[in-house]
Amino acid sequence: MNKARLTKQNKIRLAVLLLIPFVLGGAVYTFLYLVPAFPCPVRHMTGFLCPGCGMSRALGEMVHLHFFKSILYNPLAVISAVLGIGFYVQEWFLFFGSRKRFMPTNKWVYIILGIIFLAYCILRNMPVFSFLSIA
Ligand SMILES: [Zn+2]
Repeated sequence: MNKARLTKQNKIRLAVLLLIPFVLGGAVYTFLYLVPAFPCPVRHMTGFLCPGCGMSRALGEMVHLHFFKSILYNPLAVISAVLGIGFYVQEWFLFFGSRKRFMPTNKWVYIILGIIFLAYCILRNMPVFSFLSIA
């Protein structure tokens, strides 16, 4: 991207792209190291695991590059991180003028992912699939 094409909208986009790692890094550091762990309100009130149960532990393991342990705590955290990083990198490519998108644009991919998230939420609360309820 040359300087002549750096419109006000692109400047805002660049600022957001540059700020995202700092904001996310600060949030991860704050929740993992500064704020004491708190129980999941869904689990506390209902006794059932929600899709997010185990996410903070999974994130903590990801930060320490223990990806297998992270998957065991909550595979949705890993899927979400991969998607988030993919979209972030794609935004940089688009910012620098690339027209090719490498992240899926088909809505069915995300509908199926939503169904997988929902199925995981249901299955991890069933005794037969107790191996999913590590959280
Ligand atoms: Zn939960």
